[in-house]
Amino acid sequence: MLTEIKGGTVYDPIKGIDGEVRTLYIRNGRFGHSPYPHERIDETIDADGLIVMAGGIDIHSHIGGGKVNIARMMMTEDMHSDRVLHEGEQHSGCGHGIPSTFTTGYEYAKLGYTVCFEPAVVPANARLAHLEMADTPLLDTGGYLVLGNDDYFLQLLADKADPKKIRDYVGWMLDATQCTGVKVVNPGGISAFKFNQRKLDVDETHSYFGVTPGQIVRTLTDAVADLKLRHPVHTHCSNLGVPGNINSTLNTINAADGKPLHLAHVQFHSYGTEGKRKFSSAALEISEQVNNNPSLSVDVGHVMFGQTITISADTMHQFNNRNLASPKKATFMDIECEAGCGVVPFRYRSKQFVNALQWGIGLELFLTIQNPWQVFLTTDHPNGASFTTYPHLIRLLMDRSYRNDMLSTINQSARQMCQVGDIDREYSLYEIAIITRAGPARSLGLHNHGHLGFGAVGDVVLYKPGENWETVFRNPVRVIKSGTTVVSNGKIVNPLIKGNTIRQRINYDRSIARELTRYFRRTRMIRLSGFRISDDEMANAIGSKVVYTDE
Ligand SMILES: [Zn+2]
Repeated sequence: MLTEIKGGTVYDPIKGIDGEVRTLYIRNGRFGHSPYPHERIDETIDADGLIVMAGGIDIHSHIGGGKVNIARMMMTEDMHSDRVLHEGEQHSGCGHGIPSTFTTGYEYAKLGYTVCFEPAVVPANARLAHLEMADTPLLDTGGYLVLGNDDYFLQLLADKADPKKIRDYVGWMLDATQCTGVKVVNPGGISAFKFNQRKLDVDETHSYFGVTPGQIVRTLTDAVADLKLRHPVHTHCSNLGVPGNINSTLNTINAADGKPLHLAHVQFHSYGTEGKRKFSSAALEISEQVNNNPSLSVDVGHVMFGQTITISADTMHQFNNRNLASPKKATFMDIECEAGCGVVPFRYRSKQFVNALQWGIGLELFLTIQNPWQVFLTTDHPNGASFTTYPHLIRLLMDRSYRNDMLSTINQSARQMCQVGDIDREYSLYEIAIITRAGPARSLGLHNHGHLGFGAVGDVVLYKPGENWETVFRNPVRVIKSGTTVVSNGKIVNPLIKGNTIRQRINYDRSIARELTRYFRRTRMIRLSGFRISDDEMANAIGSKVVYTDE
């Protein structure tokens, strides 16, 4: 099967192409060279006048795992508010803040996204997370494994174990859970919460294990470097959402000793204590760190106004926020003492000072981080907002006068306390292509996603240019997944195409399994052999083939 995409204006930052008219060829699902003499072109797509980009990649979006399902069960309001019949889509379900798996796949595809990473896979829940992601059509997926609050790891750290042993444990766990990266959430804090600590600063000691969040970040950073994982430790810092947490964030950056680090949803970690409400923006301090440290990257976790639901492994933080729930309900749970889970519905209000300032802080981060390769577009779906708000966010970044119009509608005290109105910067299409696909691909070490070069997976989006960038990015003319058109003029046309699970190959000493077998027998409900998810199980029972980043 050979498809020709003729004469579109291509934005492909990985290949350094900034708005050049090109003709592309997809042969059997991959980008390739022009046809051989006499080779038949099966389909020609006229892209004349259209914007052409690789499929979007979401580096941080909660789409699978226990807490996502709990949120779905809790938020029946969210389901009822969005009973849309998706014509031609089978079993599409519904939902806005926390949509069904099918709706998630279709809505992502309609926005031109083709790859999505679930950032909080709890080890004991990895099987469920992969089952849900496999059930999400039209998307390739991957997961980051939550470590750093699990008893086994914390005991290794308390015992001052050989760093090689810690590396082997991390490697074994990544393999067993089929995850591609390491995530740490409120390092040590989720565990400390179970010992009745209600906060844990970066240099504060866990009351039982006697270790600090700083040590946890440093140890995981070393293990990830030793395993040669491309993506740095995906870090949800201490004290999420707390006024003054800028100090925790800066201390976490220091704890990494200059090694590569990724700060997740950094908007929620950029707060000062200035002003009469003791809540202020510290976004510029974060930008300064990122601008001076090329090995630091962030995703923003932008807030949008309206109803959503917050879901996090950070039980400590979610418990502290339970009184802010809207509607008034919350759930907390734990499995096997590996991490935690808290689900709290939330409504962000544009006239409310803190929420309005959070909105401004997200924009300040996007607009003051100079190198777009170090900042990725996210709303920490659904924590800051649903991913379906991305086109609106893109317009805010690309259109200064629209941004200033929106700024005049928010709480005016918040408006005065952020710098957004003074910033002229407007993102270019090339920069949007970086923060929504090329940057995430490079950060995750994906060789064959996020670009349109030879050998890349044939994921491509065609947009019709226009005055209003939100309209442009909300309505791709065509979305192609692995060479097959899945969205045409806003309609899903191939609803049943399944994605793969993306992983990175790693090397470590597998003999760690002997000790883990004994540990599981002593402490767990499940044996080690049943805990581990094999490639065969992924392909045959879970329904998602494992592919490696170099394939
Ligand atoms: Zn998140």
